[in-house]
This record gives sequence, C-alpha cells and structure tokens, in this order.
Amino acid sequence: MLSHNLGYPRVGSQRELKKASEQFWAGKIDRDELQKVARKIRHQNWETQKNAGLDLIPSNDFSLYDHVLDTSLMAGAIPERYHQLIDGKSNRELDLYYAMARGVQRDGLDIKAMEMTKWFDTNYHYLVPEFVKDQKFSRYSDKVIIEFEDALHKGILTKPVLVGPVTYLLLGKEKEAGFDKIDLLDNLLPVYISVLKELASRGAEWVQLDEPALVLDLTNKDKLALQSAYAQIREALPKLKILVASYFGALEDNLSIATSLNIDALHIDLTRGAETLPQILADEAFVNSTKKLSLGVVDGRNIWKNDFAKSLEFVKKAIEVLGENRVMIAPSSSLLHSPHDLDLEKNESVLTQEIKNWMAFAKQKLSEVTALSQLAQTDWTTDQSFIENQKAIASRRTSTLIHKPEVKNRVASISQHDFERQNAFQVRQTIQLEKLKLPLFPSTTIGSFPQTDEVRQLRANLKSGKLTLEDYETRIKEEIVSSLRWQEELGIDVLVHGEFERNDMVEYFGESLSGFVFTQNGWVQSYGSRCVKPPVIFGDVERPGAMTVKWSAFAQANSEKLVKGMLTGPVTILQWSFVRDDQPRKDTAFQIGLAIRDEVVDLEKAGIKVIQIDEPAIREGLPLRKYAWRNYLTWAVDAFRLSAAGVADQTQIHTHMCYSEFNDIIDSIAAMDADVITIETSRSQMELLDAFANFNYPNEIGPGVYDIHSPRVPTVDEMIVLLEKALKVIPSRNLWVNPDCGLKTRKWPETEAALRNMITAANLLRESVSVEQ
Ligand code: GLN
Ligand code: ZN
Repeated sequence: MLSHNLGYPRVGSQRELKKASEQFWAGKIDRDELQKVARKIRHQNWETQKNAGLDLIPSNDFSLYDHVLDTSLMAGAIPERYHQLIDGKSNRELDLYYAMARGVQRDGLDIKAMEMTKWFDTNYHYLVPEFVKDQKFSRYSDKVIIEFEDALHKGILTKPVLVGPVTYLLLGKEKEAGFDKIDLLDNLLPVYISVLKELASRGAEWVQLDEPALVLDLTNKDKLALQSAYAQIREALPKLKILVASYFGALEDNLSIATSLNIDALHIDLTRGAETLPQILADEAFVNSTKKLSLGVVDGRNIWKNDFAKSLEFVKKAIEVLGENRVMIAPSSSLLHSPHDLDLEKNESVLTQEIKNWMAFAKQKLSEVTALSQLAQTDWTTDQSFIENQKAIASRRTSTLIHKPEVKNRVASISQHDFERQNAFQVRQTIQLEKLKLPLFPSTTIGSFPQTDEVRQLRANLKSGKLTLEDYETRIKEEIVSSLRWQEELGIDVLVHGEFERNDMVEYFGESLSGFVFTQNGWVQSYGSRCVKPPVIFGDVERPGAMTVKWSAFAQANSEKLVKGMLTGPVTILQWSFVRDDQPRKDTAFQIGLAIRDEVVDLEKAGIKVIQIDEPAIREGLPLRKYAWRNYLTWAVDAFRLSAAGVADQTQIHTHMCYSEFNDIIDSIAAMDADVITIETSRSQMELLDAFANFNYPNEIGPGVYDIHSPRVPTVDEMIVLLEKALKVIPSRNLWVNPDCGLKTRKWPETEAALRNMITAANLLRESVSVEQ
C-alpha cells in the first residue's frame, strides 16, 4: 500500500517566499537570492515529507506565484501582449512570469496582468489561461524538469505534478469568438507528452496529473477529451506510471470516464465525495483492471484531526475488493489549502491545548497519512495511535466549549420578517436620495487604504504590549483623520475610515466574536505572495459586544461628508474561515448573520448612514455541481439579508464582491437586495456588466473602474472609457464610481495617483452628461 501526497504548502512555514518575492519586486534582492529562498523551501518540503515516511513525494507542486501560470509557461501559452518580453534568455523568464502575474509598468512598458480567479471552490486564486482561435502551444518553461532534477540530486525520486491537460484547458478563457477551448487539446498534448517523455527519460517513475475537472459538470466533448488525452499519453508513454487526481468532490456522472482512463492510478476525494468509493468498488471494469485506487481520506482543506475510525473503514473496504497492493492512501487534495505546521502554535493563550488537540495542519496530515497506511495493515483497534486519535475525536464531539443553547435558540426562532427591509428598493432609493444628497455618479472606495509598515507596526506593538491601548487608539485615530482629510481634498463623496485597525477583513471580526479561535502561523496562500490566516470556527458564534462602532462613529464625527461603516458579511466570514464540520454550514452562517445584524443596527444607532457589508466570497461558496446551487444560494442570500435587514429604509446598505462571474447567479445577487453593490469588472473590461444589463439589475451599482491588484496607475481616459461602457447598460442615476476592491495591498503613491485620476474621470463624466441633458 503506497502512501503519498498530492502537494504541499509552498510559501514556507514562516512565509519566506512571500517575503522574498516582495523584496524581489521592490528591487531589494536579486533573482539569485529569490531562487535561493525558493529552493530552500522546496528542499525543506521534500525533507519533511520524506521524514513523515511517505512513499511518493510530489515535485513541481511548488510555484513562485501560481501553478496554473506555471502550466501556461510550460506550454508556451503566453498572450500576445507579453511577447515583447520574450528574448530567449532564460534569465528573463522571471520578468515575463511576473509580468503575466502582476502586470508591468516601467521602462516605457505598460502591460496589464492576466485575469485572476478562484481555484474551484477554494480561496486560492489562479491566473486564467488566455486562448486565441489559432492558439499554438510549444514547450517554453522547463520548471517541472528542473524541480524533478533538483530533488533527484537530493536523493529523492519525486512524483512530478502537473495540472492535467483537460483541466488546464477548461480553466482557461477564450479571448476571441469562434472556437471551443477544449478543441485545443490536440495542439496542447504534444507539449505534455514531450515533458512527460523527458521526465521518464530522467528516471521519473510516477507522475501525477491533476484533473479536478472530473468533479465538475462536463459536456460530452469534455469527457471525450479526457479519454483522448489519456489514450494519447499512454500511447506515447507506455511505461510511465500515471496517476490522475480528482478532488474537491464526488465523480458522480463522470465516474465511468474516470475509471475507464488508461492510467495506472486514480485518486478520489473521500472527504467530499465518499459515495464515489462504493461506486468504484462496484465498477467491474475497474475492479478487474490492475489500476490502483488512491483514497483521499485526510482532508486537505481543513484543520481538523482525521477520524481514523472513519478513514480506516474506507481503506478496509477498498482492500477487501482490490487487495492491499492496489490501494494508495493520501490527503484528499493538495495540502496547499492547509496551514503548514500545528507545532508552530506554541502560544496557549491563543490556541488552548484542548482545541489544538482536535487539529492537524499540513505537516500533521502527512503523519496521519502514513499512520493510516500502517494501521490499515494491522489490527488497529488496539493500536495506541488509534486509541489516542479516537480520544481526541470524542473529546471534540462532547466538548461544552462548543454548544451554546441561547445561540441555537435564536437561530431556531428566525422568522421571514427578519430577512426583509421595511420597503422595496424603489421606495428606499427615493428616501435615500433625499436624505443622503449624493451627486450623480457618487464616488467611493471599497474600504481599506494602504497598510503601511507603520500601520502594521502599530498593531504589532499593541499586541506585544509595546504600545498601550490608549496610545494605539490615538495613533489609529490620527491615521483615520488624515485619510479623511485626504479623501475630502480629493473630492470623494462617500468616505471610508480606511480599516487601519484591521489585520484582515475576516480575522478582525472573528477576533471579536465568540466561537472562533486563531492561529499564529496558520497561513494559507490566497494568491501570489498574498496569504491569509483563516480563523477557526469551532463553536456556536455570538457577538459579545460592538465590534466596529467606535471607529466608524469616530470617523463620522470627524467629517462633514458621509463615512461608510464597514463590515464583513456572514457568508464571507464562513467561507474564509476553517469551518466546523459538525453542523451544516447554513447553521453557522445564520449564527454569524445574526451577530453582524446586531452590529449593523448598532452602527445605525450611532449615526452611520451608509453601511457596507462585504460579501466577496459569496460566489466561491457555490457548489461545484450546478444542481446543488439553488440550495446554497438560498441560504447564503438569506444569511446576508438577515445581517442587513435590521435597519430603516434611509440607511443605505452597500455590498461588495470581487472576482466573480455574475452571469449565472445574478438573480441571487439581486435577491440580496443591497442598495448599492460594488463589483470587480475592470480586469475583464466591464464584460461582467453584461449580466447586470441582461438581467436589468434594479439597484445601484459601482463597477470597479480600475484594477487594484496591480500597482499600475490607470489613466483618466481609460477609466472614462470603462464608465461610458458601463453607462450603456446602467441607468445614470444608479452608477457609482469606485476602484474594484480594497486598497490595502497597494502603496500610497500609486493609490493617490489612481484615485485622483478616478475622481477626475467622475467629474468629467458628470460634466459631459449634464451637457448632454
Ligand atoms: N472592505 C474590504 C477592503 O477594502 C474589502 C476587501 C475585499 O473585497 N476582499 O479591504
Ligand atoms: Zn474586493
């Protein structure tokens, strides 16, 4: 029985890669130094996995920015606008790479980044491959070979990992009409085959091709593409052992495709698709083949300790049918989505021993995988490690830390009335127009301003005791006031306080709510160098007291203009936390919804007239299969409405979403009934607005006019172009002007320049529209 891993976190246990990347981008270290840090992380990861006793250890799961971007570079899928950066010298590859990831604006160059979107239903973002009609592929980057060789030199024969060709194509975007991306398969495969051949010739025994597309709704054409891809790969490489990994769900109607692929092993995710196991074990063709079945029993996406009894049941069933030799044990998915190492959590006042004992991070999950593969070969019931494990599982199930009857009762007594504002939007809009007195095309920002080192240091000093609470608050207030003055000077209509007191939009709220715990080092990569440290929701959620009122009230008291209250919505808090797995997500969402509702009502009482409840994560919570959407959307929208509906008509509720394709959920977005929604559309040149136009979206809307994910400063003209595009589909009285997301990851100079241009654009537009009228 082989134990293996699908992928390991790559930012480093101390976020070394994040720090080195950012230094490299700032010109503070050179590429050799960056590569040195990267190599060290890879070596440590291989070492850790080897020490855990795994039989197969992945390589090429590492990435400097994103593994889908790596695949695009491997296959030479480099969009035209970057071609000027290709000069055949390998030392320039990194410039090209980061230009694709982040855009460039220097030495007379001004090229936009590639689009970014969420990787399946995780909070990891990948760079969307761009395909044109006569798309050519040719081998460009040799990263996978280099990393395989690197490990080999260290004495570790790895299992290289690639995004499978079909998933890669399906994740991409057709940049022009007239073709279907899946038809590019035959063009693409020679690159894969060439890479695989080289790996085989250098001694690779196993390779892992990730085809999580296997858990999606696939067309017949997609299914045929899968068959054809693996038939061609097999034909070209009769001896190389191919493992195809599916994850993030059950195979369902793709089961027979998956089991019929001409490969050596199939990986399935039993944490999210347990029904797949009995189905495969009843599939005669699979059972009668010699293929191995890799059981993803250890959850790659949460932080809870594995229930060995449950996992071993799966393993036992598989062994009964397939025999020990054909069973492999692994985490459900890459461990990219788990934090690094629970052993780094040493501060008991942050994470108590009792709660820690319920958890496992990536490194611990490796040990769970090897422990399970050993236990499966013994009479495990009397084994000490099994007994210990079961003790921990039982302690969590029965802990009084978790259950609070008053919270459960409040959720149980929610009525329809609690989801509804006093009056419909049209009525509210008229009232708000009169009360808020906003101009045409009101301008605003999404909430956060640059988090300078100084601001971060303030929070750190408060935490470490170097700064008293009083001094800290004085300093934050200074930041707020100076940002208010600056926004007023710029001419923004609805101001924000800047979120200087917040580390992270979810963590900040989690810290004030009960039922949450935190880690000190539980970082998970979100995109590029950006990591998040998701809170852990372990118990019933309650709001012990107001969370943001003090800051918002202070800000409003310091400006004549409207200042927006700023909250994170229940679905996003749920989605960006590690969530308890002992009750339905809906119940947890409603508990949080009630806590946010109380905060919204308190903000209104404190005189805040505009309140934003961010829900950037609503779309990423969508089940991967379409038939399951309705159920999710119903409770997700209800959770948002529950949080928003406690205020009077004159209070204007905003919401904000990013990286979302809205077309298919636009009715649910409308059902959220926010008075104003601000959304990300600038990277796609307002394409996303089509959904709002086709649907006739009734409420006000601020389509982001510039991409904040890149340091590039947009010109006035390009923002006017976008606004004019927006005006074609949005009635002018409903159009807001804003960037497409919060500005906390940006630096001040580019922020100032960009917002100045944005306000100029808004003013010019107002002039031209009033001239027309
Ligand atoms: N209000 C948040 C901010 O500006 C929103 C961030 C987000 O959408 N991810 O930072
Ligand atoms: Zn956003």
